[in-house]
Amino acid sequence: MKASSGLGRLSPLALRQRRQGLAKLLPPVTQILRGSLVERFVTCGNPACRCAQGERHGPIWYLTVTLGRGRTTGGIIPEKKVSEVRGWIDNYHKVKVHLEKISEINRELLRRDLARQRKHKRKG
Ligand SMILES: [Zn+2]
Repeated sequence: MKASSGLGRLSPLALRQRRQGLAKLLPPVTQILRGSLVERFVTCGNPACRCAQGERHGPIWYLTVTLGRGRTTGGIIPEKKVSEVRGWIDNYHKVKVHLEKISEINRELLRRDLARQRKHKRKG
């Protein structure tokens, strides 16, 4: 597969610098959470409560995490934790994107090593 990001035009030094830059942009890996936040408005089941007339309680925040094969887990996130949790989820996506870019750079560097070695061999 050809690199779509134009890495082929960069010098090896520029590639290494870009890789270093990406590594620096990585959020702290202790502050990561995979999952998504969903907001729900709920009824409590008490027929005398205002929620029975349509004025539902909420928002109540839930974290949902897919565990594979259709299994999910998660739970309620207290309101005061929502922005922190949202930040951890954002970090997870940032890390994924950055690691993918670093992988691309490393593949490009490996490709060049291989090309250089083949050139040497041909020269004998
Ligand atoms: Zn209610």
